[in-house]
This record gives sequence, C-alpha cells and structure tokens, in this order.
Amino acid sequence: AHTASGKTAIVTGAASGIGLAIAQRLARDGAKVAAFDLNADGAEAAAAKIRADGGTAIGLAVDVGDRAQVDRGVEEVRARFGPVGILVNNAGREGFEPFLSISEESWEGILSVNLTGTFRCCQAVLPDMVQARWGRIVNISSSSAHSGQPLMTHYVASKAGVIGFTKALALEFGPQGITVNTIPPGFIDTPMTRRNEAKGLLGPGVDHHAARTPVRRPGLPEDIAAACAFLVSEEAGYITGQVFGVNGGRNT
Ligand code: NAD
Repeated sequence: AHTASGKTAIVTGAASGIGLAIAQRLARDGAKVAAFDLNADGAEAAAAKIRADGGTAIGLAVDVGDRAQVDRGVEEVRARFGPVGILVNNAGREGFEPFLSISEESWEGILSVNLTGTFRCCQAVLPDMVQARWGRIVNISSSSAHSGQPLMTHYVASKAGVIGFTKALALEFGPQGITVNTIPPGFIDTPMTRRNEAKGLLGPGVDHHAARTPVRRPGLPEDIAAACAFLVSEEAGYITGQVFGVNGGRNT
C-alpha cells in the first residue's frame, strides 16, 4: 500500500490550482484529505470532487491568516479523520506593488498568510506527529525566492522566509521521525497565473514563459502534486530540510 494510505492529510489553499491538484493526488494515494481554503464554497467543491472520484475528503473554510480558524479546523479534522500525519502548506497570496507604496497592512497581510500561516498550521498539527513519531510537512515556496521578482518584495520575502523556516523546523523535528521539505515551484499554469496574465502582470504571457523553460512547456499543478506525493511518502524518510525545485529546468 502507498504510504499516504490511511493517513490524515491537510492541504491548505486546496480550492484551486496547485493545492487542488495536491489534495486530489494525496486522496488518490489513499489519504483522508482535509481541504482548507479561505473560499468556503471552493473548499467544499474540492472535497466533493475528490469524493466523486472515490476518495475520502472534507472541505473546511479556514483562513490560515487566523490562528483561531486554523486551530478550529485542525480540531475538526482530528475529530473526523484522526490525528494528522501529513500537512501541505500551499495557501498563498500575491501582491504586485511598487516597493515605496507598500503599506504596513499590505506587507503584514502577505507575510501573515504565506509565512505566518505556515507557522500556524505547523504548530497546530505537530503535536499529533510528535505523538505518532511520524510526520510529513511540505511547504510551498516559490522560485522567486531565489531569483527575486520586481514589484513583489513582500511576496518574495515571505517565500524566502518559508525556505529558512523549513530548514530550521526540519532540524528540530528530525529526531522525532518528522520530515519537513519545501517545493519552490517555477512557472505553473494555474488560475493565479491566468489572473495575472489577464491583468498584464506576466509580461509577454504564459507562452513566452514556456518558451524560456528548458522543457518547453508551462508547469502544471500535477507536476507539483507528483513531487509532493513523493516527499510525503515513506520512501522519502531520509529527505528532510530540502529545497526540491520543480521548474522545468529553469532555475532563475
Ligand atoms: P491559486 O490562486 O490558484 O490558489 C491559491 C488558493 O489559496 C486559492 O484557492 C485561495 O483561495 C487560497 N488562499 C489564499 N489565501 C488563503 C488563506 N489566507 N487561507 C486559506 N486559503 C487561502 O494559486 P496557485 O497558483 O495554485 O498557488 C498555490 C501556491 O503556489 C501559492 O502559495 C503560490 O504562491 C505558490 N506558487 C505558485 C506559482 C505559480 O506559477 N502558479 C509559482 C510559485 C509559487
């Protein structure tokens, strides 16, 4: 049996794009999946889709920017599916703003979801993993954490923070059978990307980015889900604290 089989998994930001693909993949691998999203209808729709495909899932309205909602969501998952063994911190918010016009609110808002949201979810589930002496955490960063990205200082800072956070957490919990890794996706074709293209924020657009990628196609949410499925597997138990790039060979 696949290792995700029977495990309880939480995927944040699971209503759309990469998070949805990860939730579907882990469910196909046999996990009981809790789809967390800010978008309540979207979370329920994701879970319904998984159930229609024969998987086990619930959808919960959880804003990872709010500690009380995270704690309540995790409690409900435990009650429904038992202790949490797998956590994928995927929920993310972007911002495109010239540096000098970024307000404190905007800066804190992005940090609170992308970085502090990851911190909150990890704190909420780690007691289960420590108790079981087994756990898998995957944090979704961004290739922009390495390359930088104009007009996205807050986003890039949050995603670079996720990388350092991952490495430190991996050292602290390695002795307890818990692995913590991060995937910084390159250019992935998702609703987020398409929204940005429509707003003219992607420069020449999706096709142009694909042409600059060595494998000559945009990444798909399923590409990230496949890497994530491996990192949460039993076989990946000797891999922790790593930055696992999935970017079609485009490292900048
Ligand atoms: P998306 O917009 O399609 O999906 C993101 C989901 O997260 C949405 O359903 C949204 O409602 C949810 N969300 C946002 N804020 C939330 C919050 N506070 N609490 C709970 N849920 C919240 O985006 P995507 O492209 O699938 O991106 C997923 C992750 O991958 C993000 O962290 C993003 O930064 C990262 N990423 C994406 C790309 C890309 O090219 N698409 C590249 C690098 C990194």
